[in-house]
Amino acid sequence: MSRPHALIAGAGIGGLSAALCLVRAGWQVSIFDCAPALEEVGAGLQLSPNATAILRRLDIIERLAPSCLTPEAIRVRRASDGATLALMKLGDAESRWGAPYLLAHRADLQRALLDAAAKEDAIRIHTGVAVAGFAAGADGVVAALRQGVVRVEAAGDCLIGADGSRSLIRAKLLGGAPDALQFSKRTAWRALVPAGRTGAEALRRESCLWLGRKAHLVHYPLRGGSVVNVVAIVEEDEGPTALDSGWSNQGDSDFLKARFSTWHDAARSLIGGAADWRKWRLIDRDPLPAWSAGRVALLGDAAHPMLPFLAQGAAQAIEDAGALGDALQQTAGRDEGAVSRALAAYAAARLDRASRVQRESRAQAKIYHLDGAAAFARDMAIRALGGERMLARYDWLYDARSQSAAPARDRRIRA
Ligand SMILES: Cc1cc2nc3c(=O)[nH]c(=O)nc-3n(C[C@H](O)[C@H](O)[C@H](O)COP(=O)(O)OP(=O)(O)OC[C@H]3O[C@@H](n4cnc5c(N)ncnc54)[C@H](O)[C@@H]3O)c2cc1C
Repeated sequence: MSRPHALIAGAGIGGLSAALCLVRAGWQVSIFDCAPALEEVGAGLQLSPNATAILRRLDIIERLAPSCLTPEAIRVRRASDGATLALMKLGDAESRWGAPYLLAHRADLQRALLDAAAKEDAIRIHTGVAVAGFAAGADGVVAALRQGVVRVEAAGDCLIGADGSRSLIRAKLLGGAPDALQFSKRTAWRALVPAGRTGAEALRRESCLWLGRKAHLVHYPLRGGSVVNVVAIVEEDEGPTALDSGWSNQGDSDFLKARFSTWHDAARSLIGGAADWRKWRLIDRDPLPAWSAGRVALLGDAAHPMLPFLAQGAAQAIEDAGALGDALQQTAGRDEGAVSRALAAYAAARLDRASRVQRESRAQAKIYHLDGAAAFARDMAIRALGGERMLARYDWLYDARSQSAAPARDRRIRA
Protein backbone atom coordinates (compact mmCIF):
# COMPACT_ATOMS: atom_id res chain seq x y z
CA MET A 1 0.00 0.00 0.00
CA SER A 2 1.30 3.48 -0.82
CA ARG A 3 2.31 5.78 1.99
CA PRO A 4 -0.25 8.27 3.31
CA HIS A 5 0.46 11.75 1.96
CA ALA A 6 0.94 14.92 4.04
CA LEU A 7 0.83 18.39 2.49
CA ILE A 8 2.83 21.02 4.36
CA ALA A 9 2.46 24.78 3.84
CA GLY A 10 5.83 26.39 4.68
CA ALA A 11 9.42 25.14 4.45
CA GLY A 12 10.81 27.00 7.45
CA ILE A 13 12.47 25.20 10.31
CA GLY A 14 9.07 23.92 11.47
CA GLY A 15 7.89 22.65 8.07
CA LEU A 16 11.20 20.97 7.18
CA SER A 17 11.52 19.31 10.61
CA ALA A 18 7.95 18.08 10.32
CA ALA A 19 8.62 16.62 6.87
CA LEU A 20 11.62 14.67 8.18
CA CYS A 21 9.64 13.38 11.18
CA LEU A 22 6.70 12.35 8.98
CA VAL A 23 8.88 10.43 6.55
CA ARG A 24 10.26 8.48 9.51
CA ALA A 25 6.67 7.83 10.56
CA GLY A 26 5.93 6.21 7.18
CA TRP A 27 4.37 9.16 5.33
CA GLN A 28 5.26 10.85 2.05
CA VAL A 29 5.34 14.63 2.10
CA SER A 30 4.87 17.52 -0.32
CA ILE A 31 6.03 20.88 1.02
CA PHE A 32 5.02 24.17 -0.58
CA ASP A 33 6.72 27.47 0.19
CA CYS A 34 5.69 30.77 -1.32
CA ALA A 35 9.29 32.07 -1.33
CA PRO A 36 10.89 31.68 -4.78
CA ALA A 37 14.02 30.28 -3.10
CA LEU A 38 14.54 29.18 0.48
CA GLU A 39 16.71 32.02 1.66
CA GLU A 40 19.34 31.16 4.19
CA VAL A 41 18.83 34.29 6.21
CA GLY A 42 18.56 35.19 9.85
CA ALA A 43 21.21 35.01 12.50
CA GLY A 44 21.80 33.10 15.71
CA LEU A 45 19.49 30.53 17.25
CA GLN A 46 19.93 29.06 20.71
CA LEU A 47 19.02 25.41 20.37
CA SER A 48 18.09 24.10 23.79
CA PRO A 49 18.14 20.36 24.61
CA ASN A 50 14.36 20.00 24.18
CA ALA A 51 14.98 20.76 20.48
CA THR A 52 18.37 19.11 19.93
CA ALA A 53 16.97 15.79 21.21
CA ILE A 54 14.62 15.77 18.21
CA LEU A 55 17.23 17.08 15.77
CA ARG A 56 19.45 14.21 16.87
CA ARG A 57 16.73 11.70 16.01
CA LEU A 58 16.74 13.24 12.52
CA ASP A 59 20.57 13.03 12.22
CA ILE A 60 20.73 16.82 11.98
CA ILE A 61 23.14 17.34 14.88
CA GLU A 62 25.92 15.59 12.95
CA ARG A 63 25.30 17.85 9.96
CA LEU A 64 25.30 20.95 12.18
CA ALA A 65 28.30 19.97 14.29
CA PRO A 66 31.01 21.60 12.14
CA SER A 67 29.37 25.02 12.41
CA CYS A 68 27.69 25.10 15.81
CA LEU A 69 29.11 25.73 19.23
CA THR A 70 28.44 24.34 22.72
CA PRO A 71 28.20 27.15 25.30
CA GLU A 72 29.63 26.63 28.77
CA ALA A 73 27.34 29.06 30.56
CA ILE A 74 24.61 31.68 30.37
CA ARG A 75 25.82 34.91 31.97
CA VAL A 76 23.46 37.67 33.13
CA ARG A 77 25.02 41.16 33.36
CA ARG A 78 23.86 44.58 34.51
CA ALA A 79 23.90 47.23 31.78
CA SER A 80 25.15 50.15 33.86
CA ASP A 81 28.39 48.65 35.23
CA GLY A 82 28.77 45.26 33.57
CA ALA A 83 28.48 43.40 36.90
CA THR A 84 27.69 39.71 36.55
CA LEU A 85 24.37 39.07 38.31
CA ALA A 86 24.33 35.31 37.66
CA LEU A 87 26.46 32.72 35.94
CA MET A 88 24.43 29.68 34.97
CA LYS A 89 26.90 26.93 34.21
CA LEU A 90 25.48 24.65 31.58
CA GLY A 91 27.96 21.92 32.56
CA ASP A 92 26.94 18.61 31.12
CA ALA A 93 23.63 19.46 29.45
CA GLU A 94 23.54 15.94 28.06
CA SER A 95 23.26 14.30 31.46
CA ARG A 96 21.13 17.05 33.01
CA TRP A 97 18.56 17.42 30.20
CA GLY A 98 19.21 14.44 27.93
CA ALA A 99 20.64 16.33 24.93
CA PRO A 100 23.19 19.08 24.11
CA TYR A 101 22.65 22.84 24.29
CA LEU A 102 23.91 24.40 21.04
CA LEU A 103 24.39 27.80 19.45
CA ALA A 104 23.78 27.73 15.71
CA HIS A 105 23.23 30.08 12.81
CA ARG A 106 19.65 29.86 11.54
CA ALA A 107 20.94 29.57 7.98
CA ASP A 108 23.11 26.56 8.93
CA LEU A 109 20.16 24.79 10.55
CA GLN A 110 17.93 25.56 7.57
CA ARG A 111 20.63 24.24 5.21
CA ALA A 112 21.12 21.05 7.27
CA LEU A 113 17.36 20.38 7.27
CA LEU A 114 17.11 21.10 3.53
CA ASP A 115 20.03 18.80 2.71
CA ALA A 116 18.48 16.03 4.80
CA ALA A 117 15.08 16.54 3.13
CA ALA A 118 16.65 16.55 -0.35
CA LYS A 119 18.03 13.06 0.33
CA GLU A 120 14.57 11.64 1.07
CA ASP A 121 12.71 10.23 -1.95
CA ALA A 122 9.46 10.59 -0.01
CA ILE A 123 9.81 14.40 0.31
CA ARG A 124 9.08 16.84 -2.51
CA ILE A 125 9.79 20.54 -1.96
CA HIS A 126 8.05 23.08 -4.20
CA THR A 127 9.29 26.66 -3.92
CA GLY A 128 7.48 29.68 -5.32
CA VAL A 129 4.16 27.96 -4.59
CA ALA A 130 1.78 29.50 -2.07
CA VAL A 131 -0.99 27.58 -0.38
CA ALA A 132 -4.00 29.84 -0.92
CA GLY A 133 -6.74 27.73 0.66
CA PHE A 134 -7.96 24.20 1.25
CA ALA A 135 -11.02 21.98 1.31
CA ALA A 136 -11.05 18.93 3.54
CA GLY A 137 -13.51 16.06 3.70
CA ALA A 138 -14.03 12.32 4.01
CA ASP A 139 -11.75 11.45 1.07
CA GLY A 140 -8.84 13.73 1.88
CA VAL A 141 -7.74 17.32 1.75
CA VAL A 142 -7.19 19.42 -1.35
CA ALA A 143 -4.90 22.45 -1.11
CA ALA A 144 -5.42 25.32 -3.54
CA LEU A 145 -1.98 26.40 -4.79
CA ARG A 146 -0.85 29.59 -6.46
CA GLN A 147 2.32 29.75 -8.52
CA GLY A 148 2.43 33.26 -9.94
CA VAL A 149 -0.75 33.52 -11.99
CA VAL A 150 -1.09 29.74 -12.28
CA ARG A 151 -3.59 28.06 -9.98
CA VAL A 152 -3.37 24.33 -9.33
CA GLU A 153 -4.40 21.88 -6.63
CA ALA A 154 -2.69 19.17 -4.60
CA ALA A 155 -4.47 16.31 -2.85
CA GLY A 156 -3.34 14.61 0.34
CA ASP A 157 -4.48 12.89 3.52
CA CYS A 158 -3.68 15.81 5.82
CA LEU A 159 -2.52 19.43 5.60
CA ILE A 160 -0.06 20.95 8.07
CA GLY A 161 -0.02 24.74 8.31
CA ALA A 162 3.64 25.57 9.04
CA ASP A 163 3.33 28.92 7.31
CA GLY A 164 4.69 31.18 10.03
CA SER A 165 3.32 33.86 12.31
CA ARG A 166 1.07 35.35 9.61
CA SER A 167 -0.35 31.95 8.75
CA LEU A 168 -3.07 31.80 6.14
CA ILE A 169 -3.98 28.26 7.20
CA ARG A 170 -4.54 29.50 10.75
CA ALA A 171 -6.77 32.34 9.53
CA LYS A 172 -8.83 29.92 7.43
CA LEU A 173 -9.12 27.39 10.27
CA LEU A 174 -10.30 30.07 12.67
CA GLY A 175 -12.76 31.39 10.10
CA GLY A 176 -12.81 34.97 11.33
CA ALA A 177 -12.64 34.34 15.10
CA PRO A 178 -10.66 37.12 16.88
CA ASP A 179 -6.93 36.41 16.62
CA ALA A 180 -5.10 39.72 16.27
CA LEU A 181 -1.34 40.01 15.94
CA GLN A 182 -0.06 41.65 19.11
CA PHE A 183 2.73 44.16 18.56
CA SER A 184 4.90 44.22 21.66
CA LYS A 185 6.22 47.77 21.05
CA ARG A 186 9.67 46.27 20.99
CA THR A 187 12.04 45.86 18.07
CA ALA A 188 14.87 43.36 17.78
CA TRP A 189 18.10 44.42 16.08
CA ARG A 190 20.56 41.78 15.02
CA ALA A 191 24.10 41.92 13.68
CA LEU A 192 27.01 39.58 13.22
CA VAL A 193 30.26 41.15 14.43
CA PRO A 194 33.52 39.61 13.13
CA ALA A 195 35.65 38.18 15.97
CA GLY A 196 38.45 40.66 15.22
CA ARG A 197 36.16 43.58 16.09
CA THR A 198 34.95 42.34 19.48
CA GLY A 199 36.69 42.23 22.83
CA ALA A 200 37.84 38.86 24.24
CA GLU A 201 34.87 38.77 26.64
CA ALA A 202 32.42 38.49 23.77
CA LEU A 203 34.25 35.43 22.45
CA ARG A 204 33.78 33.41 25.64
CA ARG A 205 31.78 30.25 25.06
CA GLU A 206 28.80 31.83 26.76
CA SER A 207 25.42 33.18 25.93
CA CYS A 208 25.42 36.60 27.55
CA LEU A 209 22.27 38.50 28.54
CA TRP A 210 22.54 42.17 29.57
CA LEU A 211 19.64 43.79 31.39
CA GLY A 212 19.10 47.54 31.07
CA ARG A 213 16.41 50.19 31.28
CA LYS A 214 13.74 49.44 28.66
CA ALA A 215 16.26 47.40 26.65
CA HIS A 216 18.31 44.24 26.78
CA LEU A 217 21.14 42.75 24.80
CA VAL A 218 22.02 39.14 24.00
CA HIS A 219 25.24 37.95 22.40
CA TYR A 220 27.10 34.74 21.81
CA PRO A 221 29.80 33.47 19.47
CA LEU A 222 28.80 31.50 16.38
CA ARG A 223 30.47 29.45 13.66
CA GLY A 224 33.46 28.28 15.67
CA GLY A 225 33.91 31.70 17.27
CA SER A 226 34.56 33.49 13.98
CA VAL A 227 31.64 35.88 14.56
CA VAL A 228 29.57 37.11 17.49
CA ASN A 229 25.79 37.16 17.12
CA VAL A 230 24.41 40.32 18.74
CA VAL A 231 20.71 40.95 19.32
CA ALA A 232 19.59 44.21 20.89
CA ILE A 233 15.96 44.52 21.97
CA VAL A 234 14.62 48.02 22.55
CA GLU A 235 11.25 49.47 23.41
CA GLU A 236 10.24 51.32 20.30
CA ASP A 237 6.72 52.09 19.16
CA GLU A 238 6.51 52.42 15.40
CA GLY A 239 2.73 52.12 15.43
CA PRO A 240 0.62 49.27 14.11
CA THR A 241 0.90 50.20 10.42
CA ALA A 242 4.36 48.65 10.00
CA LEU A 243 3.20 45.26 11.30
CA ASP A 244 4.02 43.51 8.07
CA SER A 245 7.68 44.39 7.89
CA GLY A 246 9.93 41.37 7.49
CA TRP A 247 13.16 40.01 8.93
CA SER A 248 15.73 41.96 7.00
CA ASN A 249 14.97 45.66 7.28
CA GLN A 250 18.03 47.86 7.52
CA GLY A 251 18.43 49.44 10.97
CA ASP A 252 20.06 52.81 11.69
CA SER A 253 23.19 52.11 13.75
CA ASP A 254 23.29 55.71 15.10
CA PHE A 255 19.89 55.18 16.71
CA LEU A 256 21.16 52.08 18.46
CA LYS A 257 24.44 53.67 19.56
CA ALA A 258 22.50 56.54 21.12
CA ARG A 259 20.08 54.14 22.78
CA PHE A 260 22.94 52.20 24.43
CA SER A 261 25.19 55.19 25.14
CA THR A 262 24.90 54.86 28.93
CA TRP A 263 25.72 51.13 28.97
CA HIS A 264 28.95 49.58 30.14
CA ASP A 265 31.94 49.79 27.73
CA ALA A 266 31.86 46.11 26.79
CA ALA A 267 28.26 46.38 25.60
CA ARG A 268 28.85 49.68 23.80
CA SER A 269 31.90 48.39 21.98
CA LEU A 270 29.94 45.40 20.68
CA ILE A 271 27.18 47.70 19.44
CA GLY A 272 29.81 49.98 17.88
CA GLY A 273 31.57 47.03 16.19
CA ALA A 274 28.57 46.06 14.09
CA ALA A 275 28.47 47.51 10.59
CA ASP A 276 25.12 46.17 9.39
CA TRP A 277 22.02 46.03 11.60
CA ARG A 278 18.85 44.22 10.57
CA LYS A 279 15.77 44.98 12.53
CA TRP A 280 12.34 43.43 12.96
CA ARG A 281 9.27 44.12 15.03
CA LEU A 282 8.42 41.66 17.75
CA ILE A 283 4.95 40.26 17.52
CA ASP A 284 3.01 37.37 18.96
CA ARG A 285 -0.59 36.28 19.35
CA ASP A 286 -2.63 34.99 22.25
CA PRO A 287 -2.45 31.20 22.70
CA LEU A 288 -5.18 29.32 20.81
CA PRO A 289 -7.56 26.88 22.51
CA ALA A 290 -7.08 24.36 19.66
CA TRP A 291 -4.72 23.70 16.74
CA SER A 292 -6.44 21.10 14.58
CA ALA A 293 -9.71 20.56 12.77
CA GLY A 294 -10.30 17.34 10.87
CA ARG A 295 -7.45 16.73 8.47
CA VAL A 296 -5.74 20.10 9.07
CA ALA A 297 -3.38 21.14 11.89
CA LEU A 298 -1.04 24.02 12.68
CA LEU A 299 2.64 23.82 13.59
CA GLY A 300 5.45 26.17 14.66
CA ASP A 301 4.90 29.93 14.54
CA ALA A 302 1.57 29.35 12.78
CA ALA A 303 0.32 27.60 15.92
CA HIS A 304 2.09 29.62 18.62
CA PRO A 305 3.89 32.79 17.49
CA MET A 306 5.88 33.95 20.50
CA LEU A 307 8.21 36.69 21.65
CA PRO A 308 11.85 35.55 21.57
CA PHE A 309 12.62 36.10 25.28
CA LEU A 310 12.96 32.42 26.10
CA ALA A 311 14.69 31.80 22.74
CA GLN A 312 12.12 29.10 21.93
CA GLY A 313 10.54 29.95 18.54
CA ALA A 314 12.52 27.40 16.57
CA ALA A 315 12.77 24.95 19.50
CA GLN A 316 9.01 24.78 19.96
CA ALA A 317 8.50 24.30 16.20
CA ILE A 318 10.95 21.39 16.31
CA GLU A 319 9.15 19.91 19.33
CA ASP A 320 5.88 20.15 17.38
CA ALA A 321 7.47 18.25 14.51
CA GLY A 322 8.58 15.43 16.82
CA ALA A 323 5.11 15.15 18.38
CA LEU A 324 3.42 15.25 14.96
CA GLY A 325 5.57 12.38 13.72
CA ASP A 326 4.80 10.36 16.86
CA ALA A 327 1.05 10.94 16.52
CA LEU A 328 0.82 10.18 12.79
CA GLN A 329 3.00 7.09 13.11
CA GLN A 330 0.20 5.58 15.09
CA THR A 331 -2.50 6.41 12.52
CA ALA A 332 -4.36 3.25 11.67
CA GLY A 333 -5.84 4.06 8.27
CA ARG A 334 -6.21 7.16 6.16
CA ASP A 335 -9.91 7.74 6.73
CA GLU A 336 -11.02 11.06 8.10
CA GLY A 337 -11.68 9.73 11.60
CA ALA A 338 -8.23 8.17 12.01
CA VAL A 339 -6.33 11.18 10.65
CA SER A 340 -8.45 13.64 12.60
CA ARG A 341 -7.88 11.71 15.86
CA ALA A 342 -4.12 11.55 15.24
CA LEU A 343 -3.90 15.30 14.56
CA ALA A 344 -6.00 16.00 17.65
CA ALA A 345 -3.64 13.78 19.69
CA TYR A 346 -0.67 15.77 18.35
CA ALA A 347 -2.30 19.07 19.32
CA ALA A 348 -3.29 17.71 22.72
CA ALA A 349 0.30 16.64 23.37
CA ARG A 350 1.68 20.06 22.52
CA LEU A 351 -0.84 22.77 23.25
CA ASP A 352 -0.46 23.30 26.99
CA ARG A 353 3.31 23.35 26.88
CA ALA A 354 3.66 25.65 23.85
CA SER A 355 1.00 28.01 25.26
CA ARG A 356 2.94 28.18 28.51
CA VAL A 357 6.09 29.10 26.58
CA GLN A 358 4.13 31.85 24.77
CA ARG A 359 2.85 33.25 28.08
CA GLU A 360 6.18 33.01 29.88
CA SER A 361 7.98 34.67 26.97
CA ARG A 362 5.62 37.64 27.37
CA ALA A 363 6.21 37.76 31.12
CA GLN A 364 9.97 37.66 30.60
CA ALA A 365 9.70 40.74 28.35
CA LYS A 366 8.48 42.80 31.29
CA ILE A 367 11.05 41.47 33.76
CA TYR A 368 13.99 42.13 31.43
CA HIS A 369 13.13 45.80 30.89
CA LEU A 370 12.40 46.96 34.44
CA ASP A 371 13.62 50.33 35.57
CA GLY A 372 14.56 52.07 38.85
CA ALA A 373 13.61 50.37 42.14
CA ALA A 374 11.94 47.45 40.39
CA ALA A 375 15.13 46.73 38.42
CA PHE A 376 17.16 46.97 41.63
CA ALA A 377 14.87 44.44 43.34
CA ARG A 378 15.06 42.13 40.32
CA ASP A 379 18.86 42.24 40.31
CA MET A 380 18.96 41.50 44.05
CA ALA A 381 16.65 38.54 43.53
CA ILE A 382 18.82 37.17 40.71
CA ARG A 383 21.93 37.47 42.86
CA ALA A 384 20.22 35.83 45.83
CA LEU A 385 19.05 32.91 43.72
CA GLY A 386 22.47 32.29 42.21
CA GLY A 387 23.32 30.57 38.93
CA GLU A 388 22.34 27.03 39.81
CA ARG A 389 18.91 27.88 41.15
CA MET A 390 18.32 30.26 38.24
CA LEU A 391 19.14 27.43 35.85
CA ALA A 392 16.85 25.02 37.69
CA ARG A 393 13.98 27.35 36.77
CA TYR A 394 14.46 26.26 33.14
CA ASP A 395 14.50 22.50 33.81
CA TRP A 396 10.81 22.19 32.83
CA LEU A 397 11.64 23.77 29.49
CA TYR A 398 14.94 22.20 28.55
CA ASP A 399 14.50 18.65 29.80
CA ALA A 400 14.18 16.52 26.68
CA ARG A 401 12.93 13.57 28.74
CA SER A 402 10.06 15.27 30.51
CA GLN A 403 7.95 16.40 27.57
CA SER A 404 4.55 15.36 28.73
CA ALA A 405 2.43 12.64 27.21
CA ALA A 406 -0.84 13.69 25.61
CA PRO A 407 -3.45 14.85 28.08
CA ALA A 408 -6.93 13.43 27.55
CA ARG A 409 -8.63 16.67 26.53
CA ASP A 410 -9.75 16.94 22.92
CA ARG A 411 -8.29 20.11 21.32
CA ARG A 412 -9.95 20.12 17.90
CA ILE A 413 -11.22 23.40 16.47
CA ARG A 414 -14.99 23.12 16.09
CA ALA A 415 -16.17 24.56 12.82
C1 LIG B 1 13.60 34.75 6.96
C2 LIG B 1 13.54 34.43 8.44
C3 LIG B 1 14.58 34.80 9.28
C4 LIG B 1 14.52 34.53 10.64
N1 LIG B 1 15.55 34.89 11.45
C5 LIG B 1 15.53 34.58 12.75
C6 LIG B 1 16.62 34.91 13.60
O1 LIG B 1 17.59 35.51 13.17
N2 LIG B 1 16.56 34.56 14.92
C7 LIG B 1 15.46 33.91 15.42
O2 LIG B 1 15.43 33.58 16.62
N3 LIG B 1 14.41 33.56 14.65
C8 LIG B 1 14.43 33.88 13.32
N4 LIG B 1 13.38 33.54 12.54
C9 LIG B 1 12.21 32.92 13.17
C10 LIG B 1 12.40 31.50 13.46
O3 LIG B 1 13.10 30.87 12.42
C11 LIG B 1 11.00 30.94 13.60
O4 LIG B 1 10.34 31.62 14.67
C12 LIG B 1 10.98 29.51 13.99
O5 LIG B 1 12.01 28.79 13.40
C13 LIG B 1 9.63 28.87 13.69
O6 LIG B 1 9.64 28.54 12.32
P1 LIG B 1 8.39 28.21 11.44
O7 LIG B 1 8.85 27.19 10.45
O8 LIG B 1 7.21 27.88 12.26
O9 LIG B 1 8.03 29.58 10.72
P2 LIG B 1 8.90 30.44 9.68
O10 LIG B 1 10.33 30.31 9.93
O11 LIG B 1 8.30 31.79 9.68
O12 LIG B 1 8.59 29.73 8.27
C14 LIG B 1 7.33 29.85 7.62
C15 LIG B 1 7.53 29.56 6.14
O13 LIG B 1 6.24 29.54 5.52
C16 LIG B 1 6.32 30.18 4.28
N5 LIG B 1 4.94 30.62 3.96
C17 LIG B 1 4.25 31.64 4.52
N6 LIG B 1 3.00 31.69 4.01
C18 LIG B 1 2.91 30.68 3.11
C19 LIG B 1 1.86 30.19 2.28
N7 LIG B 1 0.64 30.76 2.25
N8 LIG B 1 2.10 29.14 1.46
C20 LIG B 1 3.32 28.54 1.46
N9 LIG B 1 4.36 28.97 2.24
C21 LIG B 1 4.13 30.00 3.06
C22 LIG B 1 7.34 31.28 4.48
O14 LIG B 1 7.93 31.68 3.24
C23 LIG B 1 8.35 30.62 5.41
O15 LIG B 1 9.38 29.97 4.69
C24 LIG B 1 13.39 33.83 11.17
C25 LIG B 1 12.33 33.44 10.31
C26 LIG B 1 12.39 33.72 8.96
C27 LIG B 1 11.27 33.28 8.02
